[in-house]
Amino acid sequence: MDTSSKPLFMIMLGAPGAGKGTQARMLSEVLGLPQVSSGDIFRENLRNATPLGRLAKGYMDRGELVPDDVTIDMVMDRLSCPDCAGGAVLDGFPRTLAQADALRQALVAQDVRVSLAPLLEVSDDAVIGRLAGRRVCRDCQAMYHVVFSPPKVEGVCDKCGGQLYRRADDEPDTVRNRLFVYYKQTAPLVGYYFAHGVLVTIDGDRPIAAVQADLLSAVQAASV
Ligand code: ADP
Ligand code: ADP
Ligand code: ZN
Repeated sequence: MDTSSKPLFMIMLGAPGAGKGTQARMLSEVLGLPQVSSGDIFRENLRNATPLGRLAKGYMDRGELVPDDVTIDMVMDRLSCPDCAGGAVLDGFPRTLAQADALRQALVAQDVRVSLAPLLEVSDDAVIGRLAGRRVCRDCQAMYHVVFSPPKVEGVCDKCGGQLYRRADDEPDTVRNRLFVYYKQTAPLVGYYFAHGVLVTIDGDRPIAAVQADLLSAVQAASV
């Protein structure tokens, strides 16, 4: 798809488990834009035991948000890389109004705006089921689900042969806290992006391919 005319920054909105990472990865491949996932960057820092990873660990284990200042610095750093000059698919960031404002300011400084903020609407019961069965590749971060999107060989990534694991924060108690945090701190972003005229609501309670088709139509509409 040709989106070369202007930078395309899109923000995946939705509860934990709504499918943001799954869809962001596919959009990134189709559109040729980098996927910028704050959760993936935090997990990479955890694996490498960096100071940022050590700071983030407690918050992530409890299902709370990592403080805005460190999160904003981390994502802005990533967005300042040359590969993001033509845009990016953001997944998991922003998650607070302060993060959304910081992103807006950084983009405005380059005379750019967020083009599109798709909200993946999925019922609370469904997201709990999705997170309970989620499996992630240790090596390439590809996403699977034991029932809805299983790998060809159990426990093995189709794309790279890596080992699949279950995230510690996908345990039921942490999931409930993450949902609570979502409604308290992140859900206001729906109104924020509506007010900026870029919100597109998508029924995320459908098969992955159907959701992707709607997302691609929304991108096309936003790129003309
Ligand atoms: P999910 O998509 O399942 O909700 P993520 O992988 O996006 O989870 O995030 C995992 C954890 O990383 C969050 O629960 C939070 O602790 C931390 N995190 C990720 N992105 C942010 C952010 N933008 N602001 C604060 N914390 C974040
Ligand atoms: P998020 O990034 O919003 O937390 P993920 O993309 O990680 O969500 O998806 C959560 C889980 O749900 C994963 O196991 C994924 O394979 C599965 N999943 C994603 N989209 C769908 C869908 N449309 N239908 C069923 N399962 C899905
Ligand atoms: Zn893999």
